[in-house]
Amino acid sequence: MKLLEEKILKDGVIKSGNVLKVDSFLNHQIDVPFIAELGKEFKRLFADQKITKILTIEASGIGIACIAGMYFGVPVVFAKKSSGSNMDKDVYFTQIYSYTHNKVNDVVVSKRFLNVEDKVLIIDDFLANGCALEGLIDLVRQAGAAVQGVGVAVEKGFQGGGDKLRAAGIRVESLAIIDKMDAQSGTIQFR
Ligand code: 5GP
Repeated sequence: MKLLEEKILKDGVIKSGNVLKVDSFLNHQIDVPFIAELGKEFKRLFADQKITKILTIEASGIGIACIAGMYFGVPVVFAKKSSGSNMDKDVYFTQIYSYTHNKVNDVVVSKRFLNVEDKVLIIDDFLANGCALEGLIDLVRQAGAAVQGVGVAVEKGFQGGGDKLRAAGIRVESLAIIDKMDAQSGTIQFR
């Protein structure tokens, strides 16, 4: 998506450890009219799918998922990071390694908000190694619901998570795919 690529080139900042900061418009301060365009694009890309729910993970996926939820006209559920809830019978539980924080989080979704009839679109801000999305897919499958697809704003293609998910038969739509980025020169190359 040209609009997102241009915004990344203008406002994105490359940090060490292959981290791209887009916190001036996507996941800290949020440029709402701008991310509305991303939500609209997800709706266009998944127009052929029946979607009953959008699932994301707190915290940084929530903004974009909510805007997408407006265009799809469905509820948005966000998986919560919690401690020690795996014994709770009322939640689906998984563990997700956080790329940016270098730790494993316990993650839960209440059984009230995902069920066997749901057709779920998973949305997140970033796709790197794929751990976050694999965890969310696990939660959907525990509910017996269907994963209709995954929509991410920025995929870092060079980290391989997207290709792994596609090889596993998951439909992944990324609005911008970065093939290369260099912190020293500040250059970003899109697929
Ligand atoms: P993965 O689980 O695919 O390795 O990483 C995806 C998760 O880590 C996303 O939910 C996102 O919050 C975070 N993440 C991964 N890479 C980046 C990055 O370059 N920039 C930012 N802002 N977040 C990232």
